[in-house]
Amino acid sequence: MSDEIQQVDLFIVGGGINGAAVARDAAGRGLKVMLAERGDYACATSSASSKLIHGGLRYLEKFEIPLVRESLREREIMLRIAPHLTRPLRFLVPITGQQKRPAWLVRIALLLYDFLSGRQLLAASGRLDRHEISRLPRLRKADLADVLHYADCWVDDARLVLETLLDARARGADIANRRTVTRLAANENGYHVTFEEGAAARTVHARFVVNAAGPWTNDVPGLEGTGIERKALRLVRGSHIVLNLPRPVVRDAYTLQNSDGRIVFTIPWLDDRFLVIGTTDAPQEGDPGDARCSDAERDYLLACYNTYFEHPDRPAGSGDIVWSWAGVRALVDDGREDPSKVTRSAKIVAKAQGTGGLISLYGGKLTTHRRFAEKIIRQLQGMGLETGPEWTATAPLHGGALAREKLEQLACKPPRGVKPGVARRWAFTYGSEITALYEMIWQRPELAREVVPGINEAELRYSATTEDARRGEDFLLRRTKQYLFLTTVQRKTIQQWFDDNRGISPDDDIV
Ligand SMILES: Cc1cc2nc3c(=O)[nH]c(=O)nc-3n(C[C@H](O)[C@H](O)[C@H](O)COP(=O)(O)OP(=O)(O)OC[C@H]3O[C@@H](n4cnc5c(N)ncnc54)[C@H](O)[C@@H]3O)c2cc1C
Repeated sequence: MSDEIQQVDLFIVGGGINGAAVARDAAGRGLKVMLAERGDYACATSSASSKLIHGGLRYLEKFEIPLVRESLREREIMLRIAPHLTRPLRFLVPITGQQKRPAWLVRIALLLYDFLSGRQLLAASGRLDRHEISRLPRLRKADLADVLHYADCWVDDARLVLETLLDARARGADIANRRTVTRLAANENGYHVTFEEGAAARTVHARFVVNAAGPWTNDVPGLEGTGIERKALRLVRGSHIVLNLPRPVVRDAYTLQNSDGRIVFTIPWLDDRFLVIGTTDAPQEGDPGDARCSDAERDYLLACYNTYFEHPDRPAGSGDIVWSWAGVRALVDDGREDPSKVTRSAKIVAKAQGTGGLISLYGGKLTTHRRFAEKIIRQLQGMGLETGPEWTATAPLHGGALAREKLEQLACKPPRGVKPGVARRWAFTYGSEITALYEMIWQRPELAREVVPGINEAELRYSATTEDARRGEDFLLRRTKQYLFLTTVQRKTIQQWFDDNRGISPDDDIV
């Protein structure tokens, strides 16, 4: 091992939302930060969520009031700091005679939800009148006693992770995907962290390490030898199915009470082109990376949907599903048998190591990632790390510097060769960074060339150089959701573009 080993204050294992949030917060406080993500950013749980920034209405039933209050308050912070990725969403709660939770109980829960939220931007909860109910498309009305409504927020989960990491990078953090931690070894004042990047292996010295490896938190190589407590985990899979949104279009999200007492959401997605239905709670056996929506989960979600909605002509079936995804919640095992009942509260486990230390994270929510990072930094401070003050509640995220109205205006003035629909998608994908894409085309008009319909060369180039996309799927599934709009041949064309432009840098002349 070289004597000139690189020193960092904080090394983070895992580029999901928790690792990203800690990296951003720590970098903004002046720390020397390095982060390793072995796959692509957000390739695991953090791109397989229900994509909600929400209080978690159902957690009220479990009296997880502090978690709900904290989550509710984060909604408006996210609307302010990431307006391009987060938007308010109205949820309707249909109440029928057969449900476990009657209207009065849900109404009380919603009033408590409003009360805890300290809301300024989001609408208050309430109840639809008969006329409004009669106009709801496709909802079965036969047994309907009431329809309540409340607001939460929708977020692009994979981009939230990415923009958080890009923000950390802009503040000096060394962030990389396809960088795999292969060994953690404690020494006098911290840890040697070895990682592989391509064919090369490197070791750095980190005074502090945050292990944010999600479902793999207990499996980070060398963790056992550090002596840190490894909590027993319950791996609980949650699946979603995606339907082509039937007509007439349902524009609201729904919170449905299923016959087993569980809550299932239906969420209109991608400019109302698709409908997402989820989620489930199923034990995940084997590697969390292999999680897939099972046939039983698919049928469960379809059955719940068909109970509440009339699909045109016939009930929705497996043939209507255009996509599905499954993610694994890594929950601390609290001994409860029913996976739906295991606590969703996050846990932090810490171990001092000389003047340094190690923290392992368990659980967490997309919604509370920013607050979770603050708690982790506080814990590190308690272990001797000196940092600047909290700052993340008000600073716009990467791409978050412009309000939605301003983004709408920019989308109306695309450079020549960029279709208006594409410019609008860019506005609510890249936010204020849309100007970087425009600038590329203004300087080199040939980059407006469409590689496949709706995807211009400038966008692929931006994705590869600024956002570290290396493969077609990085771009099609996580930087954007264009996968759902392309044919197999077009997806291959995008992959080919990445193959042909390996190693591209912002200054390269690729045309
Ligand atoms: C089905 C489902 C729905 C959900 N819906 C919501 C929701 O709507 N709203 C909400 O607030 N929360 C939701 N959550 C919770 C939220 O998605 C998770 O809490 C969050 O994504 C966990 O993020 P993470 O960073 O801990 O883990 P992950 O996103 O899994 O990230 C861990 C990363 O570590 C990497 N890694 C592992 N080992 C190594 C190594 N040796 N070297 C380098 N990298 C490594 C992995 O590749 C992975 O990318 C949902 C969760 C699930 C499962």
